[in-house]
Amino acid sequence: MEKYVPDLYQKNIFEINYKNLSSRGIKFLIFDLDNTIALITDRHASEEAIKLFEKLKKKFKIMIASNSIGVRVKVFATELGIDYRSNCRKPKAKELEQFVLNSGYKLSEIAIIGDSMMDDVVCGNRIGITTILTDQLGKKEFITAYLKRRKERKVQKKLRDKNLFTKGRYYE
Ligand SMILES: [Mg+2]
Repeated sequence: MEKYVPDLYQKNIFEINYKNLSSRGIKFLIFDLDNTIALITDRHASEEAIKLFEKLKKKFKIMIASNSIGVRVKVFATELGIDYRSNCRKPKAKELEQFVLNSGYKLSEIAIIGDSMMDDVVCGNRIGITTILTDQLGKKEFITAYLKRRKERKVQKKLRDKNLFTKGRYYE
């Protein structure tokens, strides 16, 4: 069950204590896109997100790693001024792992941030980087993500019973 448990858990990307991440030695942040940075109905990055990433870029290397197709991801990455990888097939770790191993950063310096326990957290834990879970930004999901939520709810019930994770109980 440990592979589902994030190292940190916050309501959204705006609530994360990035100073704290810095002092933990994190230098490279890998963000999920859908329901983490943007709603699935959004076509452009929000003012709020642009402002946040403007600040973060001064302190961290930043990248989007999304399971979505290239065109959508590219729009957001371009507007936010950061690198991206699309069609990532999280929770599969192989490709992303290969990428981060070649990035020049140590695993202990990298964190993945996303709203999906089944995709983002599991992928990050497989690679061995810091995992940060957020709540989903909006209720609407792409169908693949929606189907995974059912399993996620079952997993989260088990985690709650074992006192390993409780939704809404944020920690860092
Ligand atoms: Mg997502």
